[in-house]
Amino acid sequence: MRYRWPDGKQSAVVLSFDFDAESGFLFREPEKAKRSLGDLEERRFGPRVGVDRILALLDKVKLRASFFIPGWTVENHLAPSKRIRDAGHEIGAHGNVHEAVGFLDATQEERIMQEQLAILRDQLGVKPAGYRSPSWDVNVWTPGILKRHGFLYDTSLMGNDIPYEIDSENGPLVEVPVQWLMDDAPLFRHVYGSTNAIADPGRVLQMWSKEFAAMHAENGCFVLTCHPFVSGRASRIDLLEDLVAYMRRSRGVWFTTCEEIARWHAGGDRAAPEGGLTRQPKSGRIAARRKRVRPRGAR
Ligand SMILES: [Zn+2]
Repeated sequence: MRYRWPDGKQSAVVLSFDFDAESGFLFREPEKAKRSLGDLEERRFGPRVGVDRILALLDKVKLRASFFIPGWTVENHLAPSKRIRDAGHEIGAHGNVHEAVGFLDATQEERIMQEQLAILRDQLGVKPAGYRSPSWDVNVWTPGILKRHGFLYDTSLMGNDIPYEIDSENGPLVEVPVQWLMDDAPLFRHVYGSTNAIADPGRVLQMWSKEFAAMHAENGCFVLTCHPFVSGRASRIDLLEDLVAYMRRSRGVWFTTCEEIARWHAGGDRAAPEGGLTRQPKSGRIAARRKRVRPRGAR
């Protein structure tokens, strides 16, 4: 066993959603954002349609999720942000105007941290336990800023597939790791000039199911990252429902939030036993189960 999960669980799964709306476009291309209604409207699909579809799905499958929302998005799309909060989902910080912190020095990053926390507090009454950096961009000094502001965890780094810690001058910060492999944007977003075509949801279901099955055998922490303006499309909501159904066929999956994982990890009762196994003894059964993933239309 690589990692000890609560109640004898074998692996953990989080559905997480980065509710960016227009914010990332406003930060990266401020001049274009003054005129390109097309780009703005693509992203407004999130607050207008995607968020509510995702909330309906989560209600249907009875799962609590983690949402990361930039301050700008909270201020400009307050009603859907409140619906996320009122449905009982976790809300974490995600920049103010989705600032990729690689463009910022430590002083700017500190100011933007204060701004986003003030918006979450004043508009939603939320003090976030977790932070997800916009575009998963993290500076070496970022963990120290997060610790200073009382964050329990970050979920932006890819250095493991179980929870771990990042050192900072203000003490260790819990990391709930992510991966591009489990992000909807590189698979589903149309970007002129990029090498990837828009993916077939059936292929993505198969890819994410295989990744889950392999991580489950490795006691992994499967954090899926989706965006309401990307995954709010109807066929992709169906994909998420199928994925949850697939994961529920495995025994011992802890469906939870990033915050709960971070609290478990911070509690310290999770070390693997001395000379621990790298695989669960029943890996044969898991291997058998991971073979078939049927796309929705094939049933
Ligand atoms: Zn984002």
